[in-house]
Amino acid sequence: MSEQTHHTHTKNPKNNIPATPPIPMIKTVREIREQVVAWQQAGLTIGFVPTMGALHAGHFSLLYAAKEACDKVIVSIFVNPKQFGPNEDLDSYPRPLEQDHASLTELGADILYAPTAREMYPDGFATHVQVPRLDGFLCGGSRPVFFTGIATVVTKLLNQVRPDMAFFGEKDFQQLAVIKRLARDLDIPTHIHGCPIMREQDGLAMSSRNTYLSATERALAPKLYETLNKIRDELIQGQEITAALASGRETLTELGFAVDYLELRATNDLKPATDDTRHQARLFAAAMLGKTRLIDNISV
Ligand code: AMP
Repeated sequence: MSEQTHHTHTKNPKNNIPATPPIPMIKTVREIREQVVAWQQAGLTIGFVPTMGALHAGHFSLLYAAKEACDKVIVSIFVNPKQFGPNEDLDSYPRPLEQDHASLTELGADILYAPTAREMYPDGFATHVQVPRLDGFLCGGSRPVFFTGIATVVTKLLNQVRPDMAFFGEKDFQQLAVIKRLARDLDIPTHIHGCPIMREQDGLAMSSRNTYLSATERALAPKLYETLNKIRDELIQGQEITAALASGRETLTELGFAVDYLELRATNDLKPATDDTRHQARLFAAAMLGKTRLIDNISV
């Protein structure tokens, strides 16, 4: 290929601006380890952002936090089969890998780590990580395999990449608690960072699953956050916890949400909030809107 032809090929056809070459996509544990060791030997710090892809501004906020804090940033995309129940959306979960790869290139990640399910769970795989004190309620109450699947894959990812810091969203607040706990308990030397929830302009928490919503459901979806805010205001005004939660649940049900849980829990250990702990508590909700499961949480 001549220099000239090569040059033409690297331009974006839409605006004639030279396109950035895509960042490397690594698919094996061996290669990601080699890269990380090389960087660490050169004295560079590594930030890590694990995701399931279908990236949106919520994921990007984690990437920015990682870039701010570390020299190099690895983003992983792995749709983890172990955290989906038999009737959940594993097969239909969005997987726009090329688009994600382009976004990560544009936003300045250094590596996309996208292991296959076989690489992650080869034949004979038999170990699971469980955090029983934190996994049997809220998102773990109705989804028994969920947090074991997450704890197992995150432990593996942290051992594979061995980053200095890893970044997780408060959107999945319970997941963040589980990961902080397992990192401490298993002496994983990565520093775990929690990052705030990114929302659409109308308040809906960003999520890869929002693309499932019909136009009518999308218009209704921000009411989940609105209702959480209303309950928070009532709690701050001194209303009794059970009454505030009951009326919030009623509001959501009337609007057409099928509420899975709506609870006030202590921020530090996620135990049900009492009158003593209600001022350091968080409101947690999960509800189905049609076939889409939405979750959200806010501090009180
Ligand atoms: P997921 O791809 O859904 O597994 O999410 C990957 C990471 O992005 C997790 O740490 C999530 O908590 C985080 N995340 C997802 N949505 C948001 C959001 N709206 N704001 C902040 N972080 C988010």
